[in-house]
Amino acid sequence: MSLQRSLAIVLQVKDHGDSDKIVTMYTLEHGKIVFIAKGAKRSQKRFVNKLELFSLLTIHFAPSRHSSLMRLDQADLVAPFPGLRQNYELYIAASLLCELVLHWTREHDSDAELFRLLVWALEGLAAAEGSVNRTIIFFHVKMLDILGYRPDLTGCLDCRVLGAPGVLYRFSPLRNGLVCSRCEPQATGNSQPLSLQTIQLLRRVQDMEQEKLGRLQFSLAATREALALLKGYGNHLLQREVQSWSFLS
Ligand SMILES: [Zn+2]
Repeated sequence: MSLQRSLAIVLQVKDHGDSDKIVTMYTLEHGKIVFIAKGAKRSQKRFVNKLELFSLLTIHFAPSRHSSLMRLDQADLVAPFPGLRQNYELYIAASLLCELVLHWTREHDSDAELFRLLVWALEGLAAAEGSVNRTIIFFHVKMLDILGYRPDLTGCLDCRVLGAPGVLYRFSPLRNGLVCSRCEPQATGNSQPLSLQTIQLLRRVQDMEQEKLGRLQFSLAATREALALLKGYGNHLLQREVQSWSFLS
């Protein structure tokens, strides 16, 4: 098989033996791929300062003769995003986005829309545009949409009403939607309380283009609720903990 080429974001880097690295990337044309970068631990010119977390690269690769991994032959920096590795808050946020893509995608299953969303979010974080938490919320909501897991926030799943006076709402990860306190007075499973304000904000995010995100204002309470919902719902669907959530303040 001849050499292939793609745009790629570095999701994870691990040392391998004395001289190699195992690098997982999300590529535009081929989805997630695990590469072996021979000699990358030693200072080899072709990889120096390139196989860093979050970097956007143009890569050349081919199947490896000695393992099931792809062999990374060349990497050229398109956008290194150094600021994401120098600021703790940005590092945690970028790590979360990359870990989500790592767990939510299968190898060799490409999705150009998800790739562009990830690049957009990393660019936004690196340029310090707007709130970090707002970028995380927007990314996660849009990612669920792209992957076909949009939570139903249009109204209670049983009575279909949203916003009846005095009624409280909870989100049920199990049922992928809202239940109200009239239909289900007792909380069940791992459902989470959601205020009407947060529900309406999340619905706006679901239908919003990313260029208009700057217009949305999240209160601290809505930010916390939205992040808690996404963490709980995502972990439920993945059936695993996404580690980076625990570092988010
Ligand atoms: Zn109801």
